[in-house]
Amino acid sequence: MSKILTIGEILVEIVATNRGNGFREAVPLIGPFPSGAPAIFIDQVGKLGQECAIISRVGDDDFGWVNINRLTEDGVDVSGIEVLAMGTTGSAFVRYREDGGRNFVFNIRNSACGEIELSDKTLALIDTCTHMHVMGTALYAPSVVTSILTAVERIKAAGGTVSFDPNLRPEILDSPGMREALQTVLSKTDLFMPSGEELFLFAEAKTEKEAVAELLAKGIKAIVVKRGDKGASYFDKDTQVDLSSYKVEEIDPTGAGDCFGATFVTFWLKGMHPAEVLRYANASGARAVTKAGPMEGASTRAELDALIQAQGNA
Ligand code: ATP
Ligand code: MG
Repeated sequence: MSKILTIGEILVEIVATNRGNGFREAVPLIGPFPSGAPAIFIDQVGKLGQECAIISRVGDDDFGWVNINRLTEDGVDVSGIEVLAMGTTGSAFVRYREDGGRNFVFNIRNSACGEIELSDKTLALIDTCTHMHVMGTALYAPSVVTSILTAVERIKAAGGTVSFDPNLRPEILDSPGMREALQTVLSKTDLFMPSGEELFLFAEAKTEKEAVAELLAKGIKAIVVKRGDKGASYFDKDTQVDLSSYKVEEIDPTGAGDCFGATFVTFWLKGMHPAEVLRYANASGARAVTKAGPMEGASTRAELDALIQAQGNA
């Protein structure tokens, strides 16, 4: 039986209810919503009934407990979340611009999850897991990078697999050591899940076809390219599958890539045909955008089946 692990930031998201540029004026807000790309990812895995765990840190405050309670409810093993009595849980303020882009104000590095160090307890937890998912956003601080690379090494050495979603945010791309860490993770990756242009940050080639071929030649087994409301594509050395997106009303796009990725990894590990796996992931990404709050749109398998049945193969 497989068990999926991720390591990284847990935070709350607080969202401006009107559009505009950033936070240099008073704006109406809604939240806190449980968040953090690794947390959204693992919550979606748990909701699908797949065994899974997260290693992270939160403060002993309501923002921390809103996350722990939600993850527990959705079936995630939270024994690797350390609650720091003297810590504060991370936060992100998000405001959508008129052009559909987003501005963020993050408090991650100075929050409880700004340092995630492994202990005997979390090392033992890592050794119960068979798959490690790395979120690029989680490579924001040296101690977290070390913890992630340790987990990747241990799980690979025991015959497990690694997936990697670069999930890059310009606000955190220039954290110390982040670019090197991204390359190290890529060299251990079995399943790579960039969104759109991120592919070209990891390949020399200038066209998608060539970039995919270049990365597959380096030993990556499968690549999934996420394309927002345009759908997604799957590539391995023998197969290519392209799907357009399901038609849904987009309320809040944050978390789509995380839910998509979680669903892809969960079904991929079951050994299902890539076209079928991509269909479930595509449905999961679509459902994710229909709810306000990044984790609120995570789906059960029954909900994914219902969307697939209602709209066919997209
Ligand atoms: P984020 O990091 O902001 O969560 P991402 O860039 O990693 O997002 P996206 O490409 O935005 O990922 O979304 C992932 C997948 O979710 C898409 O490939 C698609 O299958 C689905 N999806 C996203 N937005 C929509 C939408 N508006 N309508 C239908 N499906 C969508
Ligand atoms: Mg993403």
